Amino acid sequence: MVSSFAKLALRLRHFVPFLGASAMFALVPTGAVAADDPAMFESVRQADLRVATIGWRLASANVALCDRLEAGTGLQLHTLDQFDGGSREDARVHFTFATPVAIEGVVAGSPAEIAGLKADDSLVRVGSVDIAALPGKPMTTDRLVAAQLAIAALPVDAPIAVEVLRGGAPVRVTLQPIPVCKSRFEMRIARDWGASADGTMVQIGSRFVEEYRDEWLAAVMAHEFSHNILRHREKLEARGVNFGMLSGFGKNVKYFRQTELQADLLGVYLMANANYPVRAAIDFWKVFGPSKAGGILRSRSHPSWRDRVSTLEAEIAKIETISARPIVPAVLTDRAVPLDGNWERLIVRQR
Ligand SMILES: [Zn+2]
Repeated sequence: MVSSFAKLALRLRHFVPFLGASAMFALVPTGAVAADDPAMFESVRQADLRVATIGWRLASANVALCDRLEAGTGLQLHTLDQFDGGSREDARVHFTFATPVAIEGVVAGSPAEIAGLKADDSLVRVGSVDIAALPGKPMTTDRLVAAQLAIAALPVDAPIAVEVLRGGAPVRVTLQPIPVCKSRFEMRIARDWGASADGTMVQIGSRFVEEYRDEWLAAVMAHEFSHNILRHREKLEARGVNFGMLSGFGKNVKYFRQTELQADLLGVYLMANANYPVRAAIDFWKVFGPSKAGGILRSRSHPSWRDRVSTLEAEIAKIETISARPIVPAVLTDRAVPLDGNWERLIVRQR
């Protein structure tokens, strides 16, 4: 069981928020209680691995829909840097860090597991990537992100020689990656309900992970992943939209609504291709929408959750007539087209 992350967020001093410099994301609240509880380390590990596993399933099953691929390994990494001074020694001992970047977990059935890599193996070298040479500094995830990007940039299907330290002893394996859609997936420990995509990364708040089943996490993550696959960030920038306080005003509204609806529509196909029950997206909205849509969704810039449900209903009815996988849906052709702000043609209103 994942322990209460709402409480955890207050207790976690060691967990530096990902992309903390970005105004898009709230900072993790810091409290006075040292994070030295092994059960808490394990609950974070378990939650991170759930997110990694769902991300892996979406990224590996939708290769036909992605034009940017990476070497998929199924490695879930963490770095000693991200723990603060008060808990770094506890983390080093608990996770047996022998190098700055270690395996937090491996996705079941992934190339990493098949290669025999294990949680708490400390990375020495991954292909041409010398882990000790990666730049990093305390209280940041710089080295983690550098490791992820360097590994992802290896050839998508060439065998990778991996050297780790396990219990202090060197272990060398060969990992055969598979091509997957290029994306990172991260859990952000926080008390708010937030999920986001920045073009290269999908981030989901820990409350989703704590309170919702995998299929619902998949629905949220597939929506965010769709923003990246459809290049929404760069297309919105091309339209000069305001991502901040003004996102719900003026011309910004039509462009945000168009991207939201496109992401909803593509998201259910990503779910279908990854063999998730597509109706979980509707179940999610019916629970999440009435009480929380104001938080995750800026009410002016986003369509109402009820209209999103009816739009999803109509699309899912189409998906349910198709048995072949993967489905490459028509909405994917929008990737090559600049936003025109015509969101009305996408929406199916609640009757
Ligand atoms: Zn969205």
